Amino acid sequence: MTDAPLDWQVLARDGEARAGILRTRRGAIETPVFMPVGTLGTVKGVRFEELEAADLDAAIILGNTYHLWLRPGAEVVRACGGLHRFIGWERAILTDSGGFQVFSLSDMRRVAEEGVEFRSHVDGRLCFLSPEVSMEVQATLGSDIVMALDECPPGQTAHAQARASLELTARWAARSRARFDELQREGADLGRTGADGDLSGQQAIFGIVQGATHLDLRRESLARTIEVGFDGYAIGGLSVGEEKSLMYEVVEAIAPLMPSDAPRYLMGVGTPEDLVECVARGIDMFDCVIPTRNGRNGQAFTSRGKLNIKNARWASDTRPLDEACECAVCRRHTRAYLRHLFMAGEMLAAVLLSHHNLACFLDTMRRVRQSIRSDEFTRFRREFLVGINSGVE
Ligand SMILES: [Zn+2]
Repeated sequence: MTDAPLDWQVLARDGEARAGILRTRRGAIETPVFMPVGTLGTVKGVRFEELEAADLDAAIILGNTYHLWLRPGAEVVRACGGLHRFIGWERAILTDSGGFQVFSLSDMRRVAEEGVEFRSHVDGRLCFLSPEVSMEVQATLGSDIVMALDECPPGQTAHAQARASLELTARWAARSRARFDELQREGADLGRTGADGDLSGQQAIFGIVQGATHLDLRRESLARTIEVGFDGYAIGGLSVGEEKSLMYEVVEAIAPLMPSDAPRYLMGVGTPEDLVECVARGIDMFDCVIPTRNGRNGQAFTSRGKLNIKNARWASDTRPLDEACECAVCRRHTRAYLRHLFMAGEMLAAVLLSHHNLACFLDTMRRVRQSIRSDEFTRFRREFLVGINSGVE
């Protein structure tokens, strides 16, 4: 009998970059890892069979507590036996706490010590989210990794306000941890599996470091999060409108101070370039909506930078989106066809561009992992950056 929900092993390092294996109750995840975002229980436009296929092979996806709590509601997911069964996905799921969406999507927020009152962006209903409610909803979802509830101030928040926010986040972290532990003891976690070797089969929980772009506050927030104690640690509140150089600066200063024996997760980031640059600064886990969101809007990420499928120059172009990509879309279809689908408003355009973009992100991370393991990350990083800045021809 053990009580560890996760096992984390670093296999290789190159500078601050780490390649490792994160064992969860639903399989082993090679890191650094990109987690496709399944906001409402779906990675938009991408079937689960495709996520499992060799060209994507996503080991873990994200679910959004805020969205699933408002629609279809925790009781529907409970009646269906938890999120894995509800959506038909056996691999690992991480759920966020709902905090970020409350602070970015809802109207009429009122933040108090106890929690945050807000109006649902779906139907205007008055709702209340607290650390306890977030933990209860995430136990019902039965995700494999739960996030503590944090307050998410804008990126350019002034020092005094960012300090008050991080102190509230620290108190919410302790309350999240306490309620999470109670729920585990009560058996409320609907995703629980049997114990596997040294893993307990229980949910894991990550804490979140806040502090906007103030490095002293980030360090303080990190210390207070470690004091509570979590299975992994995340940097929140970046990529929320601040300059990119500031984001890199915060990650570079904070990631190496995060516990080296736990996974480090940079929330909501970013482009392929951001992933590579933040792996180089010590990050192991990422999530972002841009592969699917930008795909739906006609933008493809390639090894030579971004490609706008609407551009008339592709009208009769018989090459794939990216000649270096081996995804199912690039093996079968031309730019000319994808442009035709997009211009005609066919839903398959969004499906195919989302698939290719996810393949691009996931394959970039595969190559990052290989290069760290073979001690070639520095060269990989240099060549990757030259490639994506060379321009699509
Ligand atoms: Zn492709």
